Amino acid sequence: MQKRGKPRVSSSDLRSGERRAFEIRFPRAPQAVILFPTPYKNGLANLGFLTIWRRLNAIPNFTCDRAFLNGEAPPKGFETDLPLGAFPLVFISSSFELDLETVIRALLASSIEPLAEKRGPGDPIIVAGGMSLTLNPHPWGPFVDVALLGEGEEAIERWVGIYQRWQACGGSRGELLESAAELPCAWLPSNLKRTVIPAKYNAWPDDPAVSPVVSREGHFGECWLVELSRGCPRKCLFCAVCATYDPRFAKAEVVLRNMTQSDCLGAGKVGLVGGAVGDHPQLKRLLRAILEAGRQVTVSSLRIEKADLELLELLVRGGLGTLTVAPETGDEQLRLSIGKKASDEDLIMLAKQAGQAGLKTLRMYFLIGLPEPEDPEAIISLTRRLRQEAPPRLKLDLSVSSFIPKPGTPWQNAPFAPTKQLDQIKARLRSKIGRMAGVSIHFEPTRMERLAALLSKGDANLGVSLLRAVQTGRPLEQQLRIEKVPSSPEG
Ligand code: SF4
Repeated sequence: MQKRGKPRVSSSDLRSGERRAFEIRFPRAPQAVILFPTPYKNGLANLGFLTIWRRLNAIPNFTCDRAFLNGEAPPKGFETDLPLGAFPLVFISSSFELDLETVIRALLASSIEPLAEKRGPGDPIIVAGGMSLTLNPHPWGPFVDVALLGEGEEAIERWVGIYQRWQACGGSRGELLESAAELPCAWLPSNLKRTVIPAKYNAWPDDPAVSPVVSREGHFGECWLVELSRGCPRKCLFCAVCATYDPRFAKAEVVLRNMTQSDCLGAGKVGLVGGAVGDHPQLKRLLRAILEAGRQVTVSSLRIEKADLELLELLVRGGLGTLTVAPETGDEQLRLSIGKKASDEDLIMLAKQAGQAGLKTLRMYFLIGLPEPEDPEAIISLTRRLRQEAPPRLKLDLSVSSFIPKPGTPWQNAPFAPTKQLDQIKARLRSKIGRMAGVSIHFEPTRMERLAALLSKGDANLGVSLLRAVQTGRPLEQQLRIEKVPSSPEG
């Protein structure tokens, strides 16, 4: 019997539904593909991946296809329909720790030898980058030939230059990897003694990332995205964004010039994205200018204590229905001590004004299992107060995740909370908050969060164990026990 639900859109339909800033003429012999290990709609919402893909295709005599994951099927070139193994160069763009398992599965499904040391002259060279590798490349070490750490805009072009020179000379794989050491940001699993300096793209304030392609099938619908901020000046104790990138804001004039020049690729909506959009000093001016240009506008999130009625009304005029903020904890003192600047009263005021402005939903991100004493009851009482004081038509939507210690942050050595404790907190929140009228609450599975915590600080042995777990179908915890690999992110 055929399953009901939204019919799957074919690659050719997706292709024909796109409007792009450039066209690619693929040569007869495939050159490269960049894999984004999520479905297509998420790929269209990731400016990091899209920017690297665009820059690769701006390199003379070089073309790069894209690949996404669609269920269990082996990923294929989005434009060429070729299997990943047909490309001599496979790039991987990864944002999250759990991408590693997905990538291992994709390599196996594509009949590509996952272990770099076993790949030979006829196999693809695998080059990976993105936030998760910049934070900790070690679990990826057994699988990638090179990782490019930091901001990839210029690094990727320099890498392709090295690759093209190597191709022209017809050297060995080992020679290519030796040449990669010219790049200070190149992390080489075969040479862990090198000092690696993550790349920084100094032109960023004048050259912010913008969508090179729009489609109604993207996560935000037909929306032209611009990276309004990179990094974050606030330095919350748990946050990987501020630990990875220096904080910068794109100037309003630069964003508006980009909008005019590209005509937003015909999209009627502009998406302002980044970790610190709510701190942008010209945010209201920018919103007004976008509205005056006749476009809708959306933002990735706002700062609770900075969002006044005027700002919210501008966003509602721009078509925003759901506003996202991140109080992180229900305990005000703890919230302030971890780096957030919003009091309970600020959040209550925001909820009132959000309803008054006409927003439909207030989405709030919370963390549990923080390494400081916390009372999960505080989330319940704060939500109860919000429900009582916010207009009834404003829906409250809570997304609760477990704290995962991230490398480079002040809390990098803090433990991941015990699974039992996290599950008890989640059950308590679900039973109390899930029953409140006009409130919804969501959780990530603790098992996946624990795996992410393991990978966040894991090493090459963990990567190999993950491969064996995938190959044998065993849960990773069992595989780690069999192999006697340390497996406790709980510290
Ligand atoms: S405000 Fe948000 S993006 Fe900025 S450091 Fe804190 S958690 Fe990270």
